[in-house]
Amino acid sequence: MQKRIAVIYGDGIGREVITQALRILESTADKYGHTFIFEEVLAGGCAIDKCGQCLPQESLEICKQSDSVLLGAVGGPKWDNEPSHNRPEKALLTLRKELGLFANIRPATLLPQLRKASPLKDEILNCGIDFIIVRELIGGAYFGEHKIEQINGEKVATDGMTYSASQIESIAKVAFDIARKRKKQVISVDKANVLSSSRLWREVVESVAKNYPDVQLSHMYVDNAAMQICRAPSQFDVLLTENMFGDILSDEASVITGTIGVIPSASLSLGTLGLYEPIHGSAPDIAGEDKANPIGTILSAAMMLELSFGLTKESEAIQRAVQEALEKGYRTGDMMSEGCTLVGCKQMGDIILESI
Ligand code: NAD
Repeated sequence: MQKRIAVIYGDGIGREVITQALRILESTADKYGHTFIFEEVLAGGCAIDKCGQCLPQESLEICKQSDSVLLGAVGGPKWDNEPSHNRPEKALLTLRKELGLFANIRPATLLPQLRKASPLKDEILNCGIDFIIVRELIGGAYFGEHKIEQINGEKVATDGMTYSASQIESIAKVAFDIARKRKKQVISVDKANVLSSSRLWREVVESVAKNYPDVQLSHMYVDNAAMQICRAPSQFDVLLTENMFGDILSDEASVITGTIGVIPSASLSLGTLGLYEPIHGSAPDIAGEDKANPIGTILSAAMMLELSFGLTKESEAIQRAVQEALEKGYRTGDMMSEGCTLVGCKQMGDIILESI
């Protein structure tokens, strides 16, 4: 198989973690007889520095013409004062919109080797953590109208949170399809006691559920969901939610599984094109120090092989190699615990590579 992969290193630790993921992809391609052609694409703060735009048109075109996109992270304090239409994060929002990436899939799974890194008590961890967050990615408050205006002599800010029935229907179907391959349970998270968009959300999700009689649907308010993720995460199988709630809950879910550094994500379109990235940001506090955990990016590459290219065996080989490295006790600083061996980003890449 030959595939073209657009690679966005981005900012901060982006280059460090992506470099390790590319080594793993190259080695997997060699072993299984595939060819992956990597094309570097400028986006984020580094693109602002080089050409004044957070997402140059050429970058967008390359991503559109690729079979998939692999991204490190964008942003950092250097670009915090850029105007909102040209901030590094805007590059991500534009990519999501332009590529039609409406479904964000984030697994929250406790790897047994990382138990000690989780802040939760043993009695909670004993019940297991293994759920998937399905987050709508191109609607809601992040894509609504944003304005700050002067009213009666003071500043007033407004952020519009808009959802259409068809947007909700598309993401709900993704969640139900995933649930069918798992424990057949969807918990839909909203704030239907307050928000109109949530009331429509609930109505549409219920109507989609009628086509999935084998999947059990229940609803949960987002404030309760935030609490339940810490209190009893084993009750979740597929958690379906809108854009902003998903952003917040998925970070919470990453922490209970040990560290934000190991969680991958996929943002999917209706076709096979996807954007794959670790859920963490550019971590400016450790950038350039070889301290970043590359596992979230490496597992994102594994997700790409499975979900966009259908290379399940190859994806599993990468996941196994990651588990082996953890099994042997190697840890980057963010997941370090007693008795383990502290390694840097590159060395973690070397160790995982050995097991491919
Ligand atoms: P962050 O995820 O970058 O960092 C939060 C904390 O986690 C930091 O202490 C950091 O050192 C640590 N951390 C994150 N990833 C790690 C890794 N792989 N290995 C070890 N430790 C890791 O979040 P933040 O500090 O809120 O944001 C920093 C910048 O990243 C901001 O400019 C933000 O806008 C941007 N950001 C980008 C993305 C993205 O590109 N998708 C996502 C979130 C934040």
